Amino acid sequence: MISRSIQQQLLTALYDAFAGWAEKFTFSCHKGCATCCTRSVTMTSLEGEGIMTFLAEAGRQAELADPAFSAPSSRTVQCTTNTFVAAHLRGEELEEPENWDLRPCPFLKEESCTIYPVRPFGCRLFASLDPCAASGVADMPPGYLAGATVLLQYIEHLGNGGCWGTMVELLAGLHSGQAEGYGQATSPIPGFLIAPDEQPLVEPLLQDLLAREINGQTFAQWLHAARP
Ligand code: SF4
Repeated sequence: MISRSIQQQLLTALYDAFAGWAEKFTFSCHKGCATCCTRSVTMTSLEGEGIMTFLAEAGRQAELADPAFSAPSSRTVQCTTNTFVAAHLRGEELEEPENWDLRPCPFLKEESCTIYPVRPFGCRLFASLDPCAASGVADMPPGYLAGATVLLQYIEHLGNGGCWGTMVELLAGLHSGQAEGYGQATSPIPGFLIAPDEQPLVEPLLQDLLAREINGQTFAQWLHAARP
């Protein structure tokens, strides 16, 4: 079991590698645009613990008692990233959930994120080449989603033993001290869904991240150590 401290360092390295890789794209996204900031953002409890620490250090835990953070009565998340990938690798078709909660994220104030330094990866990957407010559909460059999906899989794998679900749902669980009753159990990496033409685009991101050294071991070695 990797310590919480190392898990958080690995998460920081992953966020940093992704930000560096994504810099080469010219997105329309800008401060003040919050079209994608909804209550359907997903994350792992590993990321949730980082948000809880951030709120505690800022004396902001009381915010989680707001009704906006109550868990939804109907679950919006049916499978994690790794269980979704595993099903595809087995040739199974999974239905997309149709009950996404598109009300604004409770952390969105005056069109700005109030937990920006610790926002989960699900928020960091949102991006569009064209303004998407009108259509509600993000236009992502080739290979971008494939690279982001691999990193979502890494985070879930590193958070082995935790949960995966909507940010609102998991924070409600962590705040109540009953996180295991919320979301889906995380799963290890079953393989990847990178198309051959996406491989050259994704490879620089993975090479950079996997070679990064954290506490005497590479990211790749930590991933191996996180296997159940
Ligand atoms: S956490 Fe921040 S970036 Fe993520 S959806 Fe909420 S307001 Fe937006």
